[in-house]
Amino acid sequence: MTTLISIGELLVEFVSHQKDCHLQALVEYSGPYPSGAPAIFADQAAQCGAKSMIFGSIGDDGFGKVLTNRFSQNGVISEGVTVTDATTGTAFVSYNSDGSRNFIFHIGNTAADSLIFEEAKLPEGDLLLHISGSSLGNEKLRAQINNAVDAVIARGGKICCDPNARPEIMSNPEAFASLKEIVSKSSILLPSTADLTYLYPGLNEAEAIHEVFNSGAELVVLKRGSDGVLVSSASESFELTPFEVEEIDPTGAGDCFCGTLVASLISGKSLLDAAQLANAAGALSVTKRGPMEGNSNISKISAFIASQSVGNKIITRES
Ligand code: ATP
Ligand code: MG
Repeated sequence: MTTLISIGELLVEFVSHQKDCHLQALVEYSGPYPSGAPAIFADQAAQCGAKSMIFGSIGDDGFGKVLTNRFSQNGVISEGVTVTDATTGTAFVSYNSDGSRNFIFHIGNTAADSLIFEEAKLPEGDLLLHISGSSLGNEKLRAQINNAVDAVIARGGKICCDPNARPEIMSNPEAFASLKEIVSKSSILLPSTADLTYLYPGLNEAEAIHEVFNSGAELVVLKRGSDGVLVSSASESFELTPFEVEEIDPTGAGDCFCGTLVASLISGKSLLDAAQLANAAGALSVTKRGPMEGNSNISKISAFIASQSVGNKIITRES
């Protein structure tokens, strides 16, 4: 079985209970929740049955244990997780009435960016390396991730990329250039609508997806948040409408979606089945507070799909 590798920032997250506080007011928070886009992805992929391994770094503290406990609970292979002298990285998030979010990340000079990628820890056999662009804003992480990309490609493995552009941590031109390079090395691209605008300013959705295929991708799955999904490959193209759910906390939906999709494809499911499971997993993930508290396994996702009378209608398009 292909091993799915994730690498990048391991964080705990605190979520504000009050909208429009902009992380400036004295309000209540919940946390520490295990987080970091690569961790959310790896956890969800493991829950969906993939051999899912993560490379990252934590501190020797309670926050680090929040992460390792979750990994062992859900079967994420964590031999690539190292414990450093620095404290575990953190993120704070609050939501606004207009749907926007405020983040404060502590990644630089924490354990999160102390990661040293050790190629010797890569397992034998087929490899698929998943990169979240959110990790590329940090110079130290970027260098280690590029080492991992080169090592996996040298072993004949493939790259999957969720651009996951976070303006808060990706404002420098080096991060943008690095993301573009990883996109060009990726077989599977899983952008959100905002990611396409970030990567290809001035191009509409169709033009931007065309550019992604030009750069060598075999599969592009566009996450449209509460507007559903657009799937494009060389042989098929279709849209899925979203499931109707009550959105409590949308952070992490994209990573949950990607983990479900890639794990399902690795296990031999069709592109349509994998995309439907991912669409449902993404919807389920927003119903719980905390970035990976809404992650769920295939049987829960399938039960959710079976319980829905609306949503997930397939709109097929010609390729
Ligand atoms: P993030 O970067 O915050 O993790 P994202 O922008 O990468 O998220 P989204 O598009 O927000 O990803 O969500 C991924 C998928 O999850 C969507 O394409 C959709 O299938 C599902 N989803 C997300 N939000 C909702 C919602 N409110 N209702 C139904 N489905 C949703
Ligand atoms: Mg995203």
